[in-house]
Amino acid sequence: MSGTYIVFDLEWNQSPSGKENSIEHFPFEIIEIGAVKLDEQLQIVSEYHQLVTPQVYMQLHYRIIQVTHLHMKDLISQGSRFPDAVRSFLEWCGEGAIFCTWGSMDLVELQRNMDFYGMENPFAFPLCYYDVQKLYALQLGENNEKLSLDRVVEELGLEEARPFHRALDDAYYTGKVMQALDFGTLKDYLSVDYYRLPENAEEEIRLEFPTYLKYVSREFASRDDALADRNVTEMVCRECRRMLRKKFQWFAASSRQYLCLAVCPEHGYVRGKIRIRKKEKDDDSVYVVKTMKLVDEAAAREVFAKREEQRQKKREHSRERRLAAKRS
Ligand SMILES: [Zn+2]
Repeated sequence: MSGTYIVFDLEWNQSPSGKENSIEHFPFEIIEIGAVKLDEQLQIVSEYHQLVTPQVYMQLHYRIIQVTHLHMKDLISQGSRFPDAVRSFLEWCGEGAIFCTWGSMDLVELQRNMDFYGMENPFAFPLCYYDVQKLYALQLGENNEKLSLDRVVEELGLEEARPFHRALDDAYYTGKVMQALDFGTLKDYLSVDYYRLPENAEEEIRLEFPTYLKYVSREFASRDDALADRNVTEMVCRECRRMLRKKFQWFAASSRQYLCLAVCPEHGYVRGKIRIRKKEKDDDSVYVVKTMKLVDEAAAREVFAKREEQRQKKREHSRERRLAAKRS
């Protein structure tokens, strides 16, 4: 089954009366699963569709009705209970296929819903998948651009007589976008699912990409704890795996991002980037995603400049504080 791709999309409902009435750890209830299966040549060989009967939020949020045109009576009369729906979906997927989704949310919500029903997590760890939205941005050279599926389908001229915002149709269009990509050159850019994090140092994730290394840490009680950990702060060369000497220590480039610069005697400058991420909004614990990328002189100079800028800001800030203290 290797070389099979499961492109899937979920529709979910939320508390119809707003966040205050949302159940903790269960903000979204899946109401529809749609998927297409692609073979190695990215040809669509099979489709899957299943409605899910809600058990928690028994009224559809008006936005969901507007966008999907789904109605509660159809979910009740034609749907399966979520655990049955997922089991049938996974059976249809088969073993060893790679998941592909538009954005990073679908695998998160799938697992969160499975957890809610106490289902065992059947996925590999780490769970790598293709985020087709990200692949499209990479191909355009706009790494951080998050374009909507409708817009990309239009840009690529892939529109057919299928509507958007229903699970199977969106999965189908996502599959069509994959076919239109230069997938051969993007194939290395798998994404990592962050729903399940490493539970200890041994489980921490280290992945190799064409131009950088990626590391995903276990959870830490606080940002300071994370930044004191050697696995988090160490710098490694992608080419030779040497432990590198840093030009300077990690510094905060923004509220959630830290930078550092190291040098490999053989391969040159390596730029480190740490993003501090929170798993749950109401929890203090954090985890770290670090990339270590070989860069040229110009990019290295940018890191130097950024560091200088931050130091300058800090100096001004403390001077202002001293002046304010004197005045009071
Ligand atoms: Zn090296």
